Amino acid sequence: MKQIAIVTGSSRGIGAAIAENLASQGVHVVINCRSNKEQGELVAEKCRAYGVEALVLPWDVADFAACEANVKTVTEKLGAPTILVNNAGITQDGLLMRMTEEQFDAVIDTNLKSAFYMTKLCSSLMMKARYGRIINISSVAGVYGNAGQANYAAAKAGIIGFTKAVAKELGSRNITVNAVAPGFVETDMTKDLGDNIKEAAKGNIALKRFAQPEEIAALVGFLASPTASYITAQVILADGGMAL
Ligand code: NAP
Repeated sequence: MKQIAIVTGSSRGIGAAIAENLASQGVHVVINCRSNKEQGELVAEKCRAYGVEALVLPWDVADFAACEANVKTVTEKLGAPTILVNNAGITQDGLLMRMTEEQFDAVIDTNLKSAFYMTKLCSSLMMKARYGRIINISSVAGVYGNAGQANYAAAKAGIIGFTKAVAKELGSRNITVNAVAPGFVETDMTKDLGDNIKEAAKGNIALKRFAQPEEIAALVGFLASPTASYITAQVILADGGMAL
């Protein structure tokens, strides 16, 4: 079967590593980002080196009409997606007392509602094919909570409930749905954390370091493969052994 993956938010960071991992397995990939098409093209070039097709499609995953139009484009140009990785995410941190409704909504829309939009659109195509792999990127913040991230933790905990519910709905059609919850990963999202915060965080991690994006991608790549055929409705932490 021709394997086609949509990886949202894959122009950099964890998503880029996931796209490359999938390409290395012979999967044709769709690189999505919000705006930075040039960055997406760099990732696509690396993917094409594995001999697969790589399509760069910038769109806002928080916009249902844009999701619908781009899933249609993917289906026309590459074929119906067999793998969906809901990875795009943002943070807008702040203590609850100072957090605005706009900050709360932006994080929920980009990190949680987008997964609803994309899963709804792609799963109908996967149901017809009676095959699919859906992997949602959550976070340890959604499992343990994190001060200053009420919006982000709510979205990432929402991803976990969403994953479990959808896995139950789609299981009979041979579609697996799992969540991966990374701890701290070295990407643009964490680069501006203060040195004191980074050192304190590392103290609570058994491996005493942050993850590289490729270490998260390896897990996602496995869950996306045909081999992971009896794993569904799971939340798998890749956090280096965090004690919170
Ligand atoms: P990142 O380096 O900041 O990259 C974010 C990616 O998402 C970029 O490609 C960005 O595209 C895209 N994106 C953001 N908003 C979008 C939107 N509305 N529509 C389409 N694309 C959008 O992030 P990361 O650290 O790799 O994180 C990836 C995922 O892992 C996120 O869901 C994040 O919450 C989760 N996570 C990260 C960590 C960590 O420590 N880094 C830990 C746990 C979980 P543009 O470049 O165009 O903005």
